[in-house]
Amino acid sequence: MDLEKTLLRKVGEAVTRFKMIRDGDRVAVALSGGKDSLTMLEALVLLRDRAPIQFTVCAFTVEQGKFLRPIEPMGEYLKSRGIDWTYHTDNPSIRLIDEQPDHGCDLCSRFRRRAVYQIARELGANVIAFGHTADDLCESFLRNALFTGRISALPPVTWSSKKDFRLIRPLVFVTEDITTRFAESLGAPVIPCGCSQKTGTVRRSLRDILGELEKEHPRLKESLLSAMGNIQTDRLLDTRYLPDDGPVETPEETNPLVVVR
Ligand code: SF4
Repeated sequence: MDLEKTLLRKVGEAVTRFKMIRDGDRVAVALSGGKDSLTMLEALVLLRDRAPIQFTVCAFTVEQGKFLRPIEPMGEYLKSRGIDWTYHTDNPSIRLIDEQPDHGCDLCSRFRRRAVYQIARELGANVIAFGHTADDLCESFLRNALFTGRISALPPVTWSSKKDFRLIRPLVFVTEDITTRFAESLGAPVIPCGCSQKTGTVRRSLRDILGELEKEHPRLKESLLSAMGNIQTDRLLDTRYLPDDGPVETPEETNPLVVVR
């Protein structure tokens, strides 16, 4: 199937199912410089032009001192596409690199979040779109289950703490093989971030494990995504969701090994 059609179908499904965008919204797209957020921006612009509701789209990038190449080609590309783009250098983040070169992601993302809200406010946006993909959701789901003891991933829609911005993730059903091919087809310049080259992280390990399993089971991520939308609370161990006297067993569950296999 045509790549653009596939992308729009998946983004459209997420936007509709989770009521991400509403009439009159101004959506600010967080562009990281990578293939995913560029793909998301293009998809939202295409949807804007076809949707039965009215909404506007603008884009911004926060410079935190971690880009490995000059950002200007991306600005030129966006200008040629007629996209309203704001490039903001976040000086506190730049100072953080000097003062604490080994800072972790928690600090870096706290600085970024503060800058993102400030920019979105200046742009008059009420919605901020982030480019987390289906791959990110799957990795987050596995990371939480394996390392933090929770069944949880990333919310498709949430709110900033003061409820002044709706935060949306339109790519939750879009895998990175699609964003990679789509960004290539656009000829858009991708600006890598130093962190994308990190090895030895949990994220990288989970990505490798999934990639290895996918060689034999190509629909693995689809299945994981379905699982996140199909929770059988009475088949888990959280007593908040279990009937007082336990669920009724179905015949195929009599032998637990049948289920576990
Ligand atoms: S991966 Fe790099 S850019 Fe991303 S939050 Fe962590 S430190 Fe910041």
